[in-house]
Amino acid sequence: MLTKAAILYEINKPLVIDTIKLPPLKDSQVLVKIAYSGICQGQLLEIKGFKGEDKYLPHCLGHEASGVVVEIGKGVTKVKANDKVALTWIKGVGLDGFGCVCECSGKKINAGPISTFSEYSIISENRLYKVKSDISMEEIALLGCAIPTGLGSVLNIAKPKKNQSIAVFGCGGIGLLAIQGAKISGCSSIVAIDLFDNKLQIAKKMGATHTINASKYSKEHLTELIKTELDFAIESSGSPKAMLHSLESIRPRGGTAVILGNTHHEDVIKINPKHFNLGKRILGSWGGECMPDQDYPFFEKLIEEKKLDLTFLTNDKYHLDDINQAIKDVEMGKATRALISFE
Ligand SMILES: [Zn+2]
Repeated sequence: MLTKAAILYEINKPLVIDTIKLPPLKDSQVLVKIAYSGICQGQLLEIKGFKGEDKYLPHCLGHEASGVVVEIGKGVTKVKANDKVALTWIKGVGLDGFGCVCECSGKKINAGPISTFSEYSIISENRLYKVKSDISMEEIALLGCAIPTGLGSVLNIAKPKKNQSIAVFGCGGIGLLAIQGAKISGCSSIVAIDLFDNKLQIAKKMGATHTINASKYSKEHLTELIKTELDFAIESSGSPKAMLHSLESIRPRGGTAVILGNTHHEDVIKINPKHFNLGKRILGSWGGECMPDQDYPFFEKLIEEKKLDLTFLTNDKYHLDDINQAIKDVEMGKATRALISFE
């Protein structure tokens, strides 16, 4: 079948909107009609070539979305036609499907096991999560990446206790969800740090108790604000400097920094080992350590019970034709999390 998609032909060039031909479904694959797709830093880095040599060019992009199942391939049992689903890059249970290869004007276009910047997409069974509640399609889209990465970094990795303190470096979609994770955990001091004041204002609405503009950040200022030592830092800005600040900001003997941000593939951070000698810990994250089939039902329940505020993460909507503008707006901090609408 034919569908409209945004294609990356060349690094550092705008995406090209064109009609591509989807191949027939193979075993373990599912055809999904996309409703909303989120744009995250992951795609910005791919477009800019920050992830290193891209051997899949030209290719489709996107790794979080919502949609409805149209057709299932042989062997698929997790979903059926008309099911509402979240499309997520984090592997869950189900068959691990082949990477999908599409066609455009006689040229091969790679689409991998998941791609979401198109009206219809072929997805591997294990990248789908069936939604059972009545939450909106905009909200379901965020289950694909922002919610598991942001909430998971706090609830599954940092695991703060009630009344502990936390700072979040970088208040994009993932950072704002980390802030909400800190609120759910009962943290008493939640410090939001970002270069953009508009994002700090949103962070406050989502539970931040203090804010610092990153251009004015110092450890002394942070300590003065919260009047105690910092137990946890979550870094979600993708800036090597913020990664060092997050390690510097936490308390000796057990303070923990969780690094989520992606940087240029050649970036290196230099760490003074004294931080480790002082008993500080630094942890990484793979999708907030989430297992979709185990963790997403809880996230879905939080959304259903209105315990998550996703308003500011679902406000900025764009049509597929305007995807390059949406990407620019995410990069410039104008949009917290841009959603491409196919509805
Ligand atoms: Zn992502």
